[in-house]
Amino acid sequence: MAETLFSKIIKREIPADIIYEDDDALAFRDINAQAPVHFLVIPKKPIAKLSDASAEDQALLGHLLLVANKVATQEGLTDFRLNVNNGAGASQTVFHLHIHVLGGRPFSWPPG
Ligand code: 5GP
Repeated sequence: MAETLFSKIIKREIPADIIYEDDDALAFRDINAQAPVHFLVIPKKPIAKLSDASAEDQALLGHLLLVANKVATQEGLTDFRLNVNNGAGASQTVFHLHIHVLGGRPFSWPPG
């Protein structure tokens, strides 16, 4: 997989407001927040997008959801939205799998 901004954040080659890290995952605040709380949860393993994940990533994908919930709770959120953009046609711009976690304001449905 080509190196992305997010692998540079993992390696501390570019700065980010990192709010959680463990052996397999990292969470940091989105530079262009779309809500009072907006952070991204990424695997350290470089998976370009969700559709590139495979059965061997099952535990990792579950872990990312648990991290999203843990960090959302740390951020004081009870209601929050998770979003994964898969592919350019779904507005993915950084090709390193990430879960957006947004909270602190009401959300409508369906999303735009
Ligand atoms: P996507 O559109 O791929 O689902 O989301 C990529 C997200 O990464 C966007 O919300 C964008 O604001 C965020 N982003 C892009 N570059 C950087 C960066 O250098 N630092 C941080 N913290 N977020 C970034």
